[in-house]
Amino acid sequence: MLNYNPIIQKINSDLFSEKKVDVSVLRLDLIHPQISGNKWFKLKYNLEEAKRLGYDTILTFGGAFSNHIHATAVACKQAGFKSIGVIRGEPSSIGNNTLSDAAANGMQLFFVSREDYNKKQDAGFIQSLNERFGNFYLVPEGGDNELGAKGCEEILPMQNNFDIVLCACGTGTTLKGISNSLQPSQKIIGISVLKGVGDLNTNANVNAEYHFGGYAKHTKELLEFKESFEAQTQIPLDYVYTSKLFYGATDLIRSGSIEGKILIVHSGGLQGNRGYEDRYALNPKRNVNEPQG
Ligand SMILES: *Cc1c(COP(=O)(O)O)cnc(C)c1O
Repeated sequence: MLNYNPIIQKINSDLFSEKKVDVSVLRLDLIHPQISGNKWFKLKYNLEEAKRLGYDTILTFGGAFSNHIHATAVACKQAGFKSIGVIRGEPSSIGNNTLSDAAANGMQLFFVSREDYNKKQDAGFIQSLNERFGNFYLVPEGGDNELGAKGCEEILPMQNNFDIVLCACGTGTTLKGISNSLQPSQKIIGISVLKGVGDLNTNANVNAEYHFGGYAKHTKELLEFKESFEAQTQIPLDYVYTSKLFYGATDLIRSGSIEGKILIVHSGGLQGNRGYEDRYALNPKRNVNEPQG
């Protein structure tokens, strides 16, 4: 499906020099033009398993701006599967770029109420989906299963000498996979983008200080950080995951909580910025075009 060549980019700042830390970014946002970052790793073994078991259709779940839905549509198209996305929300959200891209890549979208969506793990609800769509291989929301984590064991380059790795955490599948691949001397910190981390299926080190109000929420401070980070490094961030990750990493460096050779995993997610900016009426380009002074 994809030949993965890890791209590691060193970044500099006055803070990093002052703290004598060495900071690099693993650019999963660059591995594929459409299949965002960590999502490709979470799908890899699921699609292999579906093929092995003889399925021709993948069904999965996600919200209207989901990077997972977006990536699944493209990955299924490439691997020759039909795909069905069970979407939380109204068909009116079809207007957004995430879902129109998914549909353009052949994904059949099925909109369900929040109430039905919350039954996504119930046998009865899945049975009703089987009656409607026939046989399918089910990938859980966010690619959050054992095979998803197994794929994430391949995110870090085999040979690396980082002391500490940081990644963004939604379901925690990526954190779990990366944790499994660490050498005993290496540490990992997951920066949770959710308020409260009770659901994370992992024992590894999750930091819950940087959710900025919860999933898909932000503050002015976060937006300002995103803008200045991007201007300084030329590395684009998404609003939901990687802005919070890099903010958290920078803050942990500033406070002296982490040191040494640090690797931050840029898990992609940039496709979601279009919908996010529409939804919150954020238009970062506006400032650029406005007359100065
Ligand atoms: C989905 C996603 C995550 C979260 O990954 P989990 O394995 O669910 O913790 C992180 N970053 C980006 C950009 C994502 O799209």
